[in-house]
Amino acid sequence: EKIQEALLNEKKVVFSFEFFPPRTEDGVDGLFEKMERMAAYNPAFCDITWGAGGSTAELTLDIAAKMENMVCVDTMMHLTCTNMPLEKIDHALDTIKSKGIRNVLALRGDPPRGQDKFVQVQGGFACALDLVKHIRAKYGDYFGITVAGYPEAHPDMIGSCGVPTLEGYHKDLAYLKRKVDAGADLIITQLFYDTDIFLKFVNDCRQVGITCPIVPGIMPINNYKGFLRMTGFCKTKVPAEIAAALEPIKDNEEAVKSYGIYLGTEMCKKILAHGIRTLHFYTLNLEKSALAILSNLGLIEEAKISRSLPWRRPTNVFRV
Ligand code: FAD
Repeated sequence: EKIQEALLNEKKVVFSFEFFPPRTEDGVDGLFEKMERMAAYNPAFCDITWGAGGSTAELTLDIAAKMENMVCVDTMMHLTCTNMPLEKIDHALDTIKSKGIRNVLALRGDPPRGQDKFVQVQGGFACALDLVKHIRAKYGDYFGITVAGYPEAHPDMIGSCGVPTLEGYHKDLAYLKRKVDAGADLIITQLFYDTDIFLKFVNDCRQVGITCPIVPGIMPINNYKGFLRMTGFCKTKVPAEIAAALEPIKDNEEAVKSYGIYLGTEMCKKILAHGIRTLHFYTLNLEKSALAILSNLGLIEEAKISRSLPWRRPTNVFRV
């Protein structure tokens, strides 16, 4: 099913989980076990990332197909333009279409490793907008198309002072509107830790005429170093009270996790109070924090954790 249709028809609060392709075969097996457990909570959809520069292309395609057809969740596959000439893009889209997957997250992607500027590959696309246009032109309405939105503007728009200029922020919004006008029907945001920035972004999107659902991307803090790495890479604002809360516990992994659950719960409560009805979790392939937040919000019942699943994985079927 197309995700945005399901979201628009849904009156209650729903949630979704993002996973990434693990590096080893055992890791892949472990991921499917985790997905099965998490799918038992009835997420609206699950998505699988496209490794930087296309590094996991075949594995991502394979995992996406199994998510849709064996784990039986509505699946969205990420697809980026980095190192992807048109034939490879169409191969990926044809493959998921043949597996019944109807949802794509269309992205430009980051520059290839070792480069700091995105360069269009020969015969490929320069930006997510071109990819969205291509998907609509070639595949009509078959795919639901999601695009990325940046509450703090894309890092390319960030000026020398470390924050986006107002002009950069508005250019980014206008460009996001073009992605939607070209056929995207859902936006998932980059991670953020200042909920007011997300809420302002939603408001600003509505002001420029973006009407599709805007889904907040929530990344529970699991680990202090990982948090610093991610917020540094994505140039995410860390509010002073969060930095202050983490400082005394930064070497205590359990305390950081608990704080991450507390913070994630508070952020989600505020977001839901503003009428947003979908929460998207960047799980980093970890289940505990996302599930604990959902449980704190009363959106899942802990009892279901041990619920027996309707479908059992045949031995080795997930080996790739
Ligand atoms: P675009 O939408 O093309 O925009 C990039 C920047 O360029 C923006 O600032 C935009 O305003 C500007 N820009 C581009 N074209 C134009 C134009 N014609 N006119 C004006 N401005 C323009 N990366 C991966 O490698 N794999 C993944 O699976 C992945 N998943 C992601 C999921 C989400 C929800 C998000 C938010 C990001 C994800 N990323 C992923 C990271 C993403 O690839 C990077 O953020 C990348 O640098 C930008 O991709 P984009 O699709 O947002 O680019």
